[in-house]
Amino acid sequence: MSDLEEYDVLVLGSGEGGKYIAWTLAKQNQRVAVIERKYIGGSCPNIACLPSKNIIHSAKVASYFWRGQEFGITKDNCKIHMSAVRDRKRQMVDGLVEMHLDNFKKSGAELIAGSGKFIAQKTIEVSLSDGSKRILRGDKIILSTGTRAKIDLVPGIIEASPLTHIEALELDQVPEHLLVIGGGYIGLELAQAMRRFGSRVTMIERNGRLAHREDEDVSEGLHEMCRNEGIDIITNQRVQKVEGKSGEKVKLYLSGASETTVEGSHLLVATGRIPNTQGIGLELAKVELTEKGYIKVNERLETTAPNVWAVGDCAGSPHFTHIAFDDFRVVVNNILGGNRSTTGRQVPFCLFTDPELARIGLSETEAKAKKIPYRLAKIPMTAALRTRTLSETSGFMKALIDAKSDRIIGFTAFGVGAGEIMGAVQIAMLAGQPYTILRDAIFTHPTLLEGLIPLFTAVPRANSS
Ligand SMILES: Cc1cc2nc3c(=O)[nH]c(=O)nc-3n(C[C@H](O)[C@H](O)[C@H](O)COP(=O)(O)OP(=O)(O)OC[C@H]3O[C@@H](n4cnc5c(N)ncnc54)[C@H](O)[C@@H]3O)c2cc1C
Repeated sequence: MSDLEEYDVLVLGSGEGGKYIAWTLAKQNQRVAVIERKYIGGSCPNIACLPSKNIIHSAKVASYFWRGQEFGITKDNCKIHMSAVRDRKRQMVDGLVEMHLDNFKKSGAELIAGSGKFIAQKTIEVSLSDGSKRILRGDKIILSTGTRAKIDLVPGIIEASPLTHIEALELDQVPEHLLVIGGGYIGLELAQAMRRFGSRVTMIERNGRLAHREDEDVSEGLHEMCRNEGIDIITNQRVQKVEGKSGEKVKLYLSGASETTVEGSHLLVATGRIPNTQGIGLELAKVELTEKGYIKVNERLETTAPNVWAVGDCAGSPHFTHIAFDDFRVVVNNILGGNRSTTGRQVPFCLFTDPELARIGLSETEAKAKKIPYRLAKIPMTAALRTRTLSETSGFMKALIDAKSDRIIGFTAFGVGAGEIMGAVQIAMLAGQPYTILRDAIFTHPTLLEGLIPLFTAVPRANSS
């Protein structure tokens, strides 16, 4: 039996929220350890946000090559070297891991490489890679175990060894024909990237449209983007059975209005995420789960066990790195005697397709469902003249303004630089400023931000009655 080692703070999982809590409290001379089984710094720098955006950027460069004639610049013998694309990504990831190790060193937080599980309240057993074990006890415990790709268990799918985002970001050859199950964000980003590298791509979505929770005009924009790229989309179809093996030959049996099959060389599953909350002894720690298997937390991110918090995806927070980061601020503030909460916080997001889709606040669908009256302004991206200099003219921007006050209650941009443009609108919303502050601002010409002037000029007058 190993000796019990005492810590002020133990963090299970080194993802976004957990690592920042560890670094911050360790710098305040608390004895802190972070237990991480595989990805130093969590998913974002290793297998999710940053590597996917790295690959997506290589795909953007590829798209410029294919569009070379349009810009008056051509090069013969354009070739995709997928292993070099992957190596650029690997190099970036290695650099990020180095950066994380350095942060651990500088902060004084101990990083323990191993898999952790509770064996009693506030007590975690860590299985180290050499087979040995350590038993740690923490006064405070932070759970930051994240989520993983969900694979719906239809017959044949496990035998087919499908790719998830992890393997897709490690491909060293362009798939001949990639079948993507799932028309959500991860599926869309990777489908477009692989298409641009030269793969034939077919997406299968069980709902009637891609990104089906977004407004219809947004979904329509994404469908049009896929059509223009040459991505085949099958909607309203569920996969019933899989035959073959990804990387060789795969056949999907679909059933919807009619039964059909589709064949390809590779299979990517992008059908959602499940929390890493099973098999880690949460019941021994008196940490309860929600019906969907996430850790039950209140608005201060406290779990049902005293002095145990949960942050990021595993706590059911919206699945974004910037939200996991805010979870860190909530927990540290509370540990240090404050009362910060998750209630009412902004949840901006950006889908990094090309063009990008960025949204903050309410969509039209949400405003209607909540019966919140609004005024709508909508303009094509071409109204921002910068898009014409770039030959990136597709998409639109729209803003929802409160029906009576001039408050901005929602903003969506589907266009080039959408994620960056959204930042300015977000600041106005955070500052509680009316939309007129953006309408009347002087923005540099010709920038994308300048497009906010025609957008907010298009806001209809408030009904005075
Ligand atoms: C392909 C893809 C692209 C994405 N792109 C974006 C994006 O552009 N922008 C954005 O904001 N979000 C994006 N996301 C979502 C984002 O990655 C997550 O929301 C974020 O990483 C969640 O952080 P986390 O700390 O909750 O979990 P994670 O970062 O997953 O960290 C959990 C860590 O805990 C470790 N762990 C789990 N269980 C144990 C255990 N028992 N013992 C030891 N260690 C354990 C895991 O190994 C992991 O390192 C993307 C996700 C994917 C999959």
